[in-house]
Amino acid sequence: MGSLYLVATPIGNLEDMSPRAVRILREAALIAAEDTRHTRQLLTHFDLHTPLTSYYEHNKLSKLDVILTALSAGDVALVSDAGTPAINDPGYELVKAALLAGHTVSPIPGPSAPLAALAVSGLPTDGFLYLGYLPRKTAERRALCEQIGQLPYTLIFLESPHRLLDSLADLQIFLGDRPAAAARELTKIYEQVVRGALSQVSAHFSLNEPRGEFVLVVGGYVPQADAQWTETRLRAEIQHELESGRQAKELASDLARKSGWMRREIYKMAQEID
Ligand code: SAM
Repeated sequence: MGSLYLVATPIGNLEDMSPRAVRILREAALIAAEDTRHTRQLLTHFDLHTPLTSYYEHNKLSKLDVILTALSAGDVALVSDAGTPAINDPGYELVKAALLAGHTVSPIPGPSAPLAALAVSGLPTDGFLYLGYLPRKTAERRALCEQIGQLPYTLIFLESPHRLLDSLADLQIFLGDRPAAAARELTKIYEQVVRGALSQVSAHFSLNEPRGEFVLVVGGYVPQADAQWTETRLRAEIQHELESGRQAKELASDLARKSGWMRREIYKMAQEID
């Protein structure tokens, strides 16, 4: 019975590849890789010649049998393009299937962009919530921001450079102008961490076009800091509620409890917006 190894690989700097990761990739009978061409470059760099097979988003279910068969004969290493497999990368379904089939599943820990960003963010690390990518669609993104608005944990998101400014704007509206850090191109030549209030991070990237890979870290909810919502935030929440089909009267009572504004002020705004 073989073991499944989840092998973390560099998120930019090849020096971050651990000696153990190299050894496991060398000794495995098979490497399952998110992108075989990409991983072949890594193997060439470390002079490794282990057979490769693909394991990616669109074959992650159909490929399970092939990999389970390989596991019955020897060890299999799973790698993604960068960072830790199964963290916003294919892996979860394979881990579940391997465990069900009675295999040992072992981590070969190493780089992971979200944790690296959290660690250098300067924000509290004792409790945090990792949420992957924010939804692309505005309504869904706003609904999520609303859901997480009062959680007292540091929030970690992955972000694409094209959506960074929209996401920063929504986060600011729904969460308030909280402390944040945008960690970009970690471990690469242009590594940069922009820290400050969401509005400051946003101002920075309005002037400097966002480029490269980003992780966004945002401070958790602190009750006093959010005592009363800004009018912009209130109006955005009203709009969101109206779009979800709620009546002005009903939403006014709800938002009055959360926002620190009077029910009749909210009702009036809702009628103006409707
Ligand atoms: N499993 C990976 C890990 O553990 O790091 C994460 C995979 S996820 C599909 C890729 C995303 O991670 C990118 O879109 C970006 O948001 C973030 N990311 C990856 N490398 C990064 C880097 N060097 N600096 C900042 N963010 C990075």
